[in-house]
Amino acid sequence: MASARAPLYIRMHADDNVAIVANDGGLGPGATFADGLVLREKVPQGHKVALVDLPQGSAVLRYKVSIGFALKDIPAGSWVHERLLEMPAARGLEGLPMATVKPPAPAPLEGYTFEGFRNADGSVGTRNILAITTTVQCVAGVVEFAVQRIKAELLPKFPNVDDVVGLEHTYGCGVAIDAPDAIIPIRTLRNISLNPNFGGEVMVVSLGCEKLQPERLLPPGTIQIVDERSVADVGLSAEAQLDVVCLQSENHVGFMSMIDSIMQAALLHLEKLNTRRRETVPASELVVGVQCGGSDAFSGVTANPAVGFCTDLLVRAGATVMFSETTEVRDGIDQLTSRASTPEVAEAMIREMAWYDAYLQKGQVDRSANTTPGNKKGGLSNIVEKAMGSIVKSGSAPISGVLAPGEKLKQKGLIYAATPASDFICGTLQLAAGMNLHVFTTGRGTPYGLAECPVIKVATRSDLARRWHDLMDINAGRIADGQASIEDVGWELFHLMLDVASGRKKTWAEHWKLHNALVLFNPAPVT
Ligand code: CA
Repeated sequence: MASARAPLYIRMHADDNVAIVANDGGLGPGATFADGLVLREKVPQGHKVALVDLPQGSAVLRYKVSIGFALKDIPAGSWVHERLLEMPAARGLEGLPMATVKPPAPAPLEGYTFEGFRNADGSVGTRNILAITTTVQCVAGVVEFAVQRIKAELLPKFPNVDDVVGLEHTYGCGVAIDAPDAIIPIRTLRNISLNPNFGGEVMVVSLGCEKLQPERLLPPGTIQIVDERSVADVGLSAEAQLDVVCLQSENHVGFMSMIDSIMQAALLHLEKLNTRRRETVPASELVVGVQCGGSDAFSGVTANPAVGFCTDLLVRAGATVMFSETTEVRDGIDQLTSRASTPEVAEAMIREMAWYDAYLQKGQVDRSANTTPGNKKGGLSNIVEKAMGSIVKSGSAPISGVLAPGEKLKQKGLIYAATPASDFICGTLQLAAGMNLHVFTTGRGTPYGLAECPVIKVATRSDLARRWHDLMDINAGRIADGQASIEDVGWELFHLMLDVASGRKKTWAEHWKLHNALVLFNPAPVT
């Protein structure tokens, strides 16, 4: 146990002049490290200790990056907290290194497979779920009522279908739907409906009078299907058919007739979904979204580096990995543009960051709006320090593509999917991109989960993993405890991913059915 161990600090780079205290519960004054450094005061676990005297104005280095400047003289052995640091200015978006790093192509990782649901469009699902798309929040209560009935009365008859989910959201009416940025929430909802876990069985519940009409949400051609009978009956092309239950339709007399319509539509889709079978597919069919939430100073030491190692394994296996959270990578933009596979990819990255800078500016906030009280309590002084620990989730592979918020993936490899760092919005946008497996690291602890896709949660500290033993799927704190290497935990995560993707294992969030709401990113005005 770490608490019983000798005083231990973790330094991320040989050039760093601060390190974080690893011991559970922190260390008190007088604690002496192996190299003779003596603590001058109490330093909580995960917080920084000055390894040398830091004169006023000097750069405080972690990850070999200046995370701030000392506001006064800080003697060696002192607690270096955020009140002693001046945050460095944001890196401009001009003159960045563009696709300058050309790492040798790593050896392909072959022979790894999982059992997935192959779709007509070539994508692969990890779960078999009936999703009911909604055009507007007005129908949410009705859809939820119907979903409960479907679960109770229909789902038991279709053993190959895992779940029924209403894609509820707060968009659809009372919004400036023609504003340029409205494209983001609209395409997000469209692309979520097409997520690989839903098997192409799109059904829509609409109110009738809303701004986001079904044909606008899912225009002809976005889905191939649907109801062969009506296609044959009326001679319409398959593309023109969208399965919509409209609550304001004159056919509906009374609430129960609406519920009956939804259940009848659901029955047809459940029948089709029930014919799906898992088949052996290569690991390259994984589409993994990585993100973090409730971060602490260990996030960038244990869990995120392990995820980064696993990201490299996945990319070598030909899979897709998305990293996101723009405000948490913005301070490492030069690392990212230099890792872009081409100058065009680097430019796309800068375009997304510039768009987000302008978005924040419009709201009169800056990047200091990121970092929460919990982040600071966990030892993260500011967004620069948080960003350096966040970026490592992306591993070391070249970045081969960029997605704007709500866009759907068109290629494999390591992708920067631009999203806010908000856990719910990031997860929602990664679902829209086509994510079929989610990896989430946390230091402070969050019970986050999604109904649409399995979420594997990785704890950064053993203390959290012990207390939340039935919520955390992997304990990366063993890295800080000296019980496992980054590589060990990275491989463990890789194998767990294949098991979870195959349905052989459930994550804790799935076990307890912990489902956070979808949250659409709407940067456009509401009316
Ligand atoms: Ca997040």
